Amino acid sequence: MILTISDWKNMLTSACDLIKSNCELLSKIDSEIGDGDHGVTACKIAEAIENAISDWNETLSVKNFFENTGWKVMGVNGGASGPLWGNFLIGLSEGIQCQNSMDELQFKNMFDSALKSTQELSGAKIGDKTMMDALIPAIEAIKSSSSDIPHMLNDAASAAEKGAESTASLIAKFGRAKNLKEKAIGHKDPGAVTVSLFFMGMSMGLKK
Ligand code: ADP
Ligand code: MG
Repeated sequence: MILTISDWKNMLTSACDLIKSNCELLSKIDSEIGDGDHGVTACKIAEAIENAISDWNETLSVKNFFENTGWKVMGVNGGASGPLWGNFLIGLSEGIQCQNSMDELQFKNMFDSALKSTQELSGAKIGDKTMMDALIPAIEAIKSSSSDIPHMLNDAASAAEKGAESTASLIAKFGRAKNLKEKAIGHKDPGAVTVSLFFMGMSMGLKK
């Protein structure tokens, strides 16, 4: 499969819509182990991406789109998530070597680069109760797939959802939840839930 700009727009719009429709839920989850603003910040990030999509004319390459949008998201204030998602988007851009053939290998390289870029800023590993508990398995699912892009995204969404669920039983090593120690057990990490919604939305957007 070769992805077009229109495919990217559909995937990202669907991901942003899903995040936006869950803003209240995300803030509620954040109010249990954080400061209750994650839904607001996640929505601001989704809106920044959607604004960039509406300004995206066909002369702007996918690489430049992700770079520009990453810098906009990096500047979203209100919490840890803006810079983390900004790094993720810039990493997607940096993973693009060949603009004209957005195939399975290119898709894997983009997400591999996005993971490395996010990890550089985050420092968190699997089990630390952060968004990385959903992001790492989602991207591992993409990288290890021998199937086409729709199946890769479907597998990534399942892996991210499972990863987000797994955070409920963890003690946090990063972020505000760290201060709660074992009191955070029983509550999911809001950032991991947002990652899960992102991959679910991307997958749904490509199927349409
Ligand atoms: P803040 O905690 O600054 O209010 P948000 O509410 O926007 O930030 O986001 C909280 C989420 O940020 C957490 O649920 C967690 O997933 C994520 N997070 C915080 N610090 C890190 C980190 N170092 N690495 C990965 N994710 C992190
Ligand atoms: Mg917060």
